[in-house]
Amino acid sequence: MNKAKAVQFSLIIILLSLFAYVFSHQSYQAYEHSDSLKIWILDVGQGDSILIDTPQEQQILIDGGPDGSVLTELQKAMPATDKEINLIISTHNDADHLSGINSVLEHYKVDKIIDSGATNTTATYKKFLQLVSDNNIPVEVARIGTAINFGELKGVVISPSKNYIGVQPQEQNIASVVTFWQYGQETFLEEGDAQAQQEAEMMNNGLVRHADILKVAHHGSATSSTEDFLKALSPKLAVISVGKNNKYNLPNPGVIERFKYLNIPILRTDEKGTIEISVFLDHFSY
Ligand SMILES: [Zn+2]
Repeated sequence: MNKAKAVQFSLIIILLSLFAYVFSHQSYQAYEHSDSLKIWILDVGQGDSILIDTPQEQQILIDGGPDGSVLTELQKAMPATDKEINLIISTHNDADHLSGINSVLEHYKVDKIIDSGATNTTATYKKFLQLVSDNNIPVEVARIGTAINFGELKGVVISPSKNYIGVQPQEQNIASVVTFWQYGQETFLEEGDAQAQQEAEMMNNGLVRHADILKVAHHGSATSSTEDFLKALSPKLAVISVGKNNKYNLPNPGVIERFKYLNIPILRTDEKGTIEISVFLDHFSY
């Protein structure tokens, strides 16, 4: 080709490369993977759904919130091509935690489920059993000491102490599976909707130690988060999953005061939307 043509050709190549770079960079930013572990407190309205995403792109979902809104939030937190969740922990069988798990079971390949073994009579719980059975998903019953390991991430069940297999508890919350997680030096406690009675049991059983990050029990209700328990944990950050203008008036103002008095900063999904915490081996940021 002549000189003018060659220049024109080079320019087109440069523009194309630039376009390819910008395009690939943009799609990279849509799901930015880093060397940190991520804890996502997903904004699912009045309910709970927490995603832990390891640097090896393994996902652990703790509860699914009250409806299908978890699917929209998962799309933001996970690569679009990743339709597999390695583990779901169902803390208990109330609809504000369990309904969204059903939505996830309908749209993702789920490798395993851990729950308390407690039962319920609701349509949501029956649907859950059906989906688990249809998809042949192995279910492990959580007992104190049940270990959940994903590489550097080590989890352990610290409640309930009672055996709920096949039992319908008077109140579902009391059977909440509580998990303690360690990643490097950083620690995270996930309480589900555990009650004050469980918090006392965990302390009496010598299972409570400092947790850097606390997912506050029961949406900040006055039924949990006793002062003794919070002092034993002394978290650097507390996160509350709660719906905007919810009919239960949660979180409880007295509980919020307790956190303030103990100088524990709080992040709330009703104020912040989905909360993303990056956990490194020796610190975390949000
Ligand atoms: Zn709840």
